[in-house]
Amino acid sequence: MPLEKFNEDAEVDLSHSKILVVDDQPINIQTVYNILAEDYEVLAATSAIDALEVCQANPPDLILLDVLMPGMTGLELCQILKQKVDTKDIPVIFVTSFNEQEEEDECWRSGGIDFITKPVNPMTVKNRVKAHLTLKYQKDILLKLVYVDGLTSIFNRRYFDKHFEKIRSEVKRSQRDTALLMIDIDYFKLFNDNYGHVAGDDTLKKVALIIQRSLSRPADFVSRYGGEEFIAVLPDTDIEGATIVAERIRQNVFNEKIENAHSPQHCVSVSIGISTILNSAKHNCDATEDADKHLYLAKKSGRNQIHSPTTE
Ligand code: GH3
Ligand code: MG
Ligand code: MG
Repeated sequence: MPLEKFNEDAEVDLSHSKILVVDDQPINIQTVYNILAEDYEVLAATSAIDALEVCQANPPDLILLDVLMPGMTGLELCQILKQKVDTKDIPVIFVTSFNEQEEEDECWRSGGIDFITKPVNPMTVKNRVKAHLTLKYQKDILLKLVYVDGLTSIFNRRYFDKHFEKIRSEVKRSQRDTALLMIDIDYFKLFNDNYGHVAGDDTLKKVALIIQRSLSRPADFVSRYGGEEFIAVLPDTDIEGATIVAERIRQNVFNEKIENAHSPQHCVSVSIGISTILNSAKHNCDATEDADKHLYLAKKSGRNQIHSPTTE
């Protein structure tokens, strides 16, 4: 789930919302545009294929979708959108001239959240769009409260627990490995004792951001696991690949040169323990505990370093 979709402001402000209107008849797009353009940004596509491209390049907050179109129909497009991770949460409202029950049922079955009948009534379009955008917005706020750490703005432990279970079953099924990095700030108690908790919190935020920026693949994510401990999840990654990412994180934190005067290195550093789900399973070990074990070994070997099952 992309964090940038969350709006910090608790007030319902829908003015920056983007609505994608998909219809093979430009005149129909124009009609809807005239109704919505004063309140929202309106994007247009005249075919299902064009709509898929827009969803990739400039994801809308809501889609108004014609049912009958040459080539791929609106129903087929909706089914595809609902299957893709990055588009499945975009609400789809069908705009249809049907009035048969079976045809309505098809709209619901393909994943539509509502429908509007043609010729459209401007008041109905405005109100339906507003209602569904508000629902979507409220859902995003709830998800943020449940899954995002208030201090660092990265995912929290609850998010990790929930998603890691899914990832674990997926790895079991596909036998494609996922790596875990358990990352802990070194001598952080010393930092707090010396600079105070406010500065400590500030450093936690910086380190979280550095870790997040050090992850390059869209499916990678990092959660705050505990006080000054983070866990990064790297799908489709073996120990070798995880070692490269871990070393990048270690260096990026160290190169930031955040002063921690009383620590041996005089600046903030992290130690990182690496595990992978399949490798841990081979040794009858839980991957999270395994990463923790390697974190402990990294600490024991002097801190500001990484440790994995292949470390000599
Ligand atoms: P090590 O190198 O072995 O990891 O030592 P450490 O001092 O980092 O680890 P220890 O577990 O002894 O202490 C962790 C400290 O992290 C305790 C607390 O001062 C600090 N800490 C944990 N959570 C927070 C937080 O939310 N804010 C701040 N400012 N400090 C925190
Ligand atoms: Mg620590
Ligand atoms: Mg710790």
